[in-house]
Amino acid sequence: MIPLLEKRPWLIAVLLVLSFATGALGQSQPGSNTAEPIASDGRISAALRQVSAERIRANIEKLASFGTRLTLSAQDPASIAAGRGIGAAREWIKAEFERYARDCGGCLEVKTDSFTEAAADRIPQPTEITNVYAVLKGTDAENANRIVLVTGHYDSRPSDTLDVKADAPGANDDASGTAVSLECARVLSKLKFPATIIFLTVAGEEQGLNGSRHFAKMAKDQGWNLEAVLNNDIVGGDKSAEQDHSVVRVFSEGLPASATEQEIRRIRGLGGENDSGSRQLARYIADVGRTYEAGVKPVLVFRLDRYLRGGDHSAFNQQGFTAVRFTEFREDFHHQHQNVRTENGIEYGDLAKFVDFDYVAHVARLNAATLASLASAPAPPANVHLLTKDLENDSTLAWEASPGGRAAEYEVLWRATTSPEWEHVEKFGGVTRATLKLSKDNLIFAVRAVDAEGHRSLPVVPVPER
Ligand SMILES: [Zn+2]
Repeated sequence: MIPLLEKRPWLIAVLLVLSFATGALGQSQPGSNTAEPIASDGRISAALRQVSAERIRANIEKLASFGTRLTLSAQDPASIAAGRGIGAAREWIKAEFERYARDCGGCLEVKTDSFTEAAADRIPQPTEITNVYAVLKGTDAENANRIVLVTGHYDSRPSDTLDVKADAPGANDDASGTAVSLECARVLSKLKFPATIIFLTVAGEEQGLNGSRHFAKMAKDQGWNLEAVLNNDIVGGDKSAEQDHSVVRVFSEGLPASATEQEIRRIRGLGGENDSGSRQLARYIADVGRTYEAGVKPVLVFRLDRYLRGGDHSAFNQQGFTAVRFTEFREDFHHQHQNVRTENGIEYGDLAKFVDFDYVAHVARLNAATLASLASAPAPPANVHLLTKDLENDSTLAWEASPGGRAAEYEVLWRATTSPEWEHVEKFGGVTRATLKLSKDNLIFAVRAVDAEGHRSLPVVPVPER
């Protein structure tokens, strides 16, 4: 079943339609079907048209031109001047963000997060690691502390992750993700949003997620209100024969890495294994993919990452943040973590010529649409509860108004416990309590906030209130 679905995304759509058609558990359902896409925002659609495959090509080729971007490679002034090593790549990324900042009248604040990582498994001696990022500050005083973030890692590696000499062009892994952060910054910095967007590029991923661990811990220690993290790693759409260029995988954790024993017990008791914040973000991305023509459709994979493999989003999950990973549909392992060479007629190495720049542009559009939708939306409703004092077959939800004062109304979503995505939605106006003639025993509910223009917040699944 699974390989069949992987090869045939249309089959997923057919199965979803069938599950809508049969309805949840044969009950007649009020509310409308969430298969109808949310209306698009013309401002966001116009921004997506500015995403340029040509710009992305230039940025990926530039990043590959630094020879190696291994975290352990040179970062002294002479190497930076000579244009080889991670130091030269870092300075170029910073200059590129600064150029976008000048082009938008200083709307972006360009920053670095530098630290010395102690010697460890894949770090033979203490090494300076620098994350580079740009902040597009929210324009609404009460919502500017809300943050959505896009990230990719700019470090690369050859076959041996300690080999500072070998070339490691890292065009797909992960100049492609770095190019997504850069292009989202260039395009979205021309717009204004009530909430803040951060465009991040990290180092140290290949040595042990060091850059993202440091950044996520800083965000946690400083109490950032970080609502969503989009990690793009290997989004180059490698041109191998069996690639599917029409889809991109979105990985999300089930049980939150940061959940306490008590929270795990509650999740087990309520059947909440499919309803982490990260999984709500994945479903949100699926919605965005139906609303905006990105050129690529998200395929949700309900798993933290590829089998036994990891990435920077998990460093954010560890700190309790909502974070997902975008990756091309089919990876070509000849073209990642390999020295550049030809053996038995096979070309090895992560070269720019294997990257499909139009595909990266499509993934950048899907990211930009998600960031723009979230940064335009009200904050999610707070303190969402399902009232369970009395045993009854109706379901009553109660919540506190979306903080920040931007919500015009609220919607209740629900689906069968076996359904991957929300199936039904009902509007409830500007209230903070709703009763549905549906049994909480059979369904999963959530509440989201909607502003006057129809921008939706992330949905929040209720906890029981006795
Ligand atoms: Zn990677």
